[in-house]
Amino acid sequence: MTADLTTEAISVKNVGKPGQKNMTQNLCSRCGKPRIVAKAWKEKVICDGKVTYVEYTQMVCPDKECQSALEKQLQAQLVNRQRIEKNKLERDLAHKQKMVDLRLGKKK
Ligand SMILES: [Zn+2]
Repeated sequence: MTADLTTEAISVKNVGKPGQKNMTQNLCSRCGKPRIVAKAWKEKVICDGKVTYVEYTQMVCPDKECQSALEKQLQAQLVNRQRIEKNKLERDLAHKQKMVDLRLGKKK
């Protein structure tokens, strides 16, 4: 009874080609242009003997400069979030240490 999770990347023709317009409008958050499908693929997932397909699409802005600026922005946000997480972790740790010190009656 082990969940046998295997992912296998396969190429499917009808998912979408680069440059093809998507059914739902996905507008660029920077310039407002409709985004285009840069990459579309399906992945075969086998779970408990059942085969399912998961669709993935990667949407990008048709404006290359805009897209690269957006990626930089996202990267900066990610770095910022990681820094906040790290600070929080360190604060929690310091807080815990303080509680231990109090319980032990440690005084300076
Ligand atoms: Zn854009």
